[in-house]
Amino acid sequence: MTLDPDAQKPRLDMETLVSLCKRRGFIFQSSEIYGGLQGAWDYGPLGVEMTANIKRAWWRAMVQERDDIVGIDASILMHPQVWKASGHVDTFVDPMVDCRNCQSRFREDELQSDVCPTCGQRGQFTEPRMFNLMLRTFLGPVQDDAATVYLRPETAQGIFVNFENVLNSMRRKLPFGIAQIGKSFRNEITPRNFIFRVRELEQMEMEYFCYPETSLALHEQWIEERRNWYARFGLKMENLRVRAHAKEELSHYSQATSDFEYLFPMGWGELEGVAHRGAYDLTQHASSSGKQISYFDEERKEHIVPHVIEPALGVGRCMLAFMTDAYDEEIDEKGEKRVVLHLHPALAPIKVAVLPLSRNEKLTPKAREVHALVRKHWMTQYDDAQSIGRRYRRQDEIGTPLCVTVDFQTVEEDNAVTIRERDSMAQVRVPVAGLVDALRDRLPDVV
Ligand code: ATP
Repeated sequence: MTLDPDAQKPRLDMETLVSLCKRRGFIFQSSEIYGGLQGAWDYGPLGVEMTANIKRAWWRAMVQERDDIVGIDASILMHPQVWKASGHVDTFVDPMVDCRNCQSRFREDELQSDVCPTCGQRGQFTEPRMFNLMLRTFLGPVQDDAATVYLRPETAQGIFVNFENVLNSMRRKLPFGIAQIGKSFRNEITPRNFIFRVRELEQMEMEYFCYPETSLALHEQWIEERRNWYARFGLKMENLRVRAHAKEELSHYSQATSDFEYLFPMGWGELEGVAHRGAYDLTQHASSSGKQISYFDEERKEHIVPHVIEPALGVGRCMLAFMTDAYDEEIDEKGEKRVVLHLHPALAPIKVAVLPLSRNEKLTPKAREVHALVRKHWMTQYDDAQSIGRRYRRQDEIGTPLCVTVDFQTVEEDNAVTIRERDSMAQVRVPVAGLVDALRDRLPDVV
């Protein structure tokens, strides 16, 4: 991943986002009380809702709304031969250099010059050494080479080794895809930029198996599908670009790869890769396992090794992009600053906040009743602490699209409540009897 130093300065700095994420319960540093662990982050109460929403939105588009893709959930630990056959044991490496002056460690391909970014010394880097990014552990009580297994560095191989199982059990015809969401581990040399580059990550990957002759067109088609997905969930298209890899940049398995790059707070960086993996993985596993792995074409009466198109992205990077994109600082009608996350309702951690005007005992039972009604349908928050204005601000800052306010008129006069919209700050009054429908109308694409 290279960052474009000439990128226009993004509007949000990472520190502001990290601080919001911590303050409002999205993301915490892992093992913080012990000083943290590099490259590992914990998702808090709002973060876990948002990542679940991102995964749901991806799964819906990839599996639920299509006839040609099914899901699996393979184990993280796999037979070590998988990683030999896939090429990861030999080639999943990054060039690592150390600064002789300050001992800082870097990925050589990420350095802009021979000046050390930590101490500023010139020409002090060691020769690059190839460093394998797979994390290792042992299975069983004996800790020797024979017991070595790897924590998977990508979810894709769990799909390839299950190709025949899915093909036969689900009676698939080409083209078809297998999708998976799960944790992967990479011993990154320089984890940094918050959740952009971590050592424990969650990936959403889909392998689309197709006839070799249609594969290039399908690669293009998947780039469009993925672009449409980002647009559907409100990502600003001016912050997203597609970059085709040059030949020398391609991974060991790839015939062509295009990256979606996003304008993150630190500059342009890879958000998602759409790779053309050819027949590489299935061929490798067939020869390594001695099993036939292919598709029998009934019409042609021949066995084909399908080609594969793979859109792959990290859940965390995706969240970072949507958070960055949604962040805004506005001046409200009173001339005060309001921080607002304009998140798509489907991605927002909390869909509806129920707010009694005050803690007055007349209001509380009604507000609780309204809350009980709404929480059956969506993720909600009930908040009665401090002024109503401050509570709106708190909800704006975490991206809650709708607030429902219960006031004295509700209990004394009309059994109606006020719905306040996050983006326009417009307020409408609706009867409690019609509240769920009114909220649903204002929560498009939310399931
Ligand atoms: P990079 O060049 O940034 O190291 P990559 O090209 O190795 O990434 P892929 O192997 O294509 O990444 O992985 C697919 C996706 O998984 C990436 O586009 C990214 O969204 C996510 N991803 C990969 N590595 C990491 C990581 N260390 N931390 C967070 N997300 C990651």
